[in-house]
Amino acid sequence: MDCDVLVIGGGLAGLACAMALSDAGLHVRVVERADEAGGRARSITDATTGERIDLGPHILLSEYRNMLRLLDLLGTRRHVAWQGARFITLVDAPGATTLHLYPLPAPLHFLPDLLRVPQLSLADVASNARLFWRVLRLDDAGRMQLDQVDAEQYLRALGVSERFIDWYWRTVAMAIMNVPLGECSAGALLGFFRYLVGRNGYQLGLPSIGLGDLFAPAARHWIEARGGAVRLGIEAARLELAGDRACGAILADGTRLHARWTVAALPPPSLHALLPESLRTHATFRDLAAFAPSPYVSTYLWFDRRLSRERFWANTWSPRTLYYDFYDLANIRAHRDAEGSLVACNLIFSTRAAHLDDAALIDAACSELAAYLPRTREAVLRHAVVHRIPMAIPAPHPGSESLRPEARTPIRNLFLAGDWLATGLPASMESAVRGGWMAAEAVLQEAGRPRAWVQPLPRMDPLAALGGRRAAAG
Ligand SMILES: Cc1cc2nc3c(=O)[nH]c(=O)nc-3n(C[C@H](O)[C@H](O)[C@H](O)COP(=O)(O)OP(=O)(O)OC[C@H]3O[C@@H](n4cnc5c(N)ncnc54)[C@H](O)[C@@H]3O)c2cc1C
Repeated sequence: MDCDVLVIGGGLAGLACAMALSDAGLHVRVVERADEAGGRARSITDATTGERIDLGPHILLSEYRNMLRLLDLLGTRRHVAWQGARFITLVDAPGATTLHLYPLPAPLHFLPDLLRVPQLSLADVASNARLFWRVLRLDDAGRMQLDQVDAEQYLRALGVSERFIDWYWRTVAMAIMNVPLGECSAGALLGFFRYLVGRNGYQLGLPSIGLGDLFAPAARHWIEARGGAVRLGIEAARLELAGDRACGAILADGTRLHARWTVAALPPPSLHALLPESLRTHATFRDLAAFAPSPYVSTYLWFDRRLSRERFWANTWSPRTLYYDFYDLANIRAHRDAEGSLVACNLIFSTRAAHLDDAALIDAACSELAAYLPRTREAVLRHAVVHRIPMAIPAPHPGSESLRPEARTPIRNLFLAGDWLATGLPASMESAVRGGWMAAEAVLQEAGRPRAWVQPLPRMDPLAALGGRRAAAG
């Protein structure tokens, strides 16, 4: 045996899993095909400016219990800059609305700001009443029942006004679930919305150093200090089976790596590519093709001057704009030498921009930026890069929630990890760490060294929970 556990994939899920396993004294080897660990949350060095940028900008929530525990173990939580009660600024040209978390019991905490949005009437806000009560009493079984239904159809059926759907729900579907509302599972959308309205006191956080630098080097150090290894630039080509058991993997250079347990910490398309023919038609694996991607374009713009003092804002949904979230890293990164703004912007579910070249994507980003920050028009754009990301997350299309697998597979010593597992959360960094620890717990159980790593999902605040119970009883 080359090691006790082979972990394929050095993203958040693979690293979290390997940390837990090496902490239990197992000899772990992680193979990662890229030259940097961190996967979709990795940082890279920009060749022109030498600055650390991310594959695409990310947000954390203070409710990310698994991710924050990981950062606590690594000693890097202090590098998250929290937004405080100012939740998000939504830009709907020419105006902007900032949503705050008011010190009111959940689910009332967003209400004062929603009632002030110029685009919405009191009747628009009130049209959510039936939906709201359904959401508060939504349990796991209800979430799965709603999985087959598309969210747009469901909101209409419950009487939500078209204006509220356009201004609020289309924006939430794209910005949080990463798919258009009409292509989103109602179960997935409302399952997450339950957390947003059922609790108060949470905050958005932004990494004040490169996102990957927040966890990847320290996780590697953790694993290697416990006798494990993280090997970069090593690609697994095929999972290896011996009869009904997994026995490791064959690497792209032909080397065989043998392990007692194998964890595939890979997104669905990469896992599919690694499966031996005999497993492709197996019930657990044949649905992998159904996890369609939500592609992104992340554009980074370097300007010669400061454009704002804001850290983060987002465009509301509109058929006329492309980008959603904007981040001025000059106001987020703690130790940045350069003077001018470095704005990162995400074009979510970017299929509608697939025909655009880099110049057109950069132009669109600059003009959408200028619509909110007119100073952009006088600023000089010094440098820009465009990252095309084929799959930011597996898209939560109707029916996809029910397909999300557990960490255990029918092959007793083969386990899965990743953001797309049945973690109870939308695919995200939090889901990736939770999925990694689900796999670690399953391996530790098999190895006779059981230990708990998975952090519980947040509960609703008392008033919201009482509302949910009353709605369920009524
Ligand atoms: C632009 C962008 C913005 C996002 N915004 C947010 C956000 O704001 N908040 C949030 O919580 N989440 C966000 N996400 C999602 C988040 O990044 C992912 O959910 C999370 O990083 C997934 O981690 P993972 O370990 O499951 O998968 P991955 O990060 O994909 O890790 C899998 C790893 O396996 C490696 N690999 C693949 N095939 C092989 C092979 N054959 N051999 C060896 N290695 C292999 C890959 O290189 C990769 O490193 C965003 C993602 C993107 C891309």
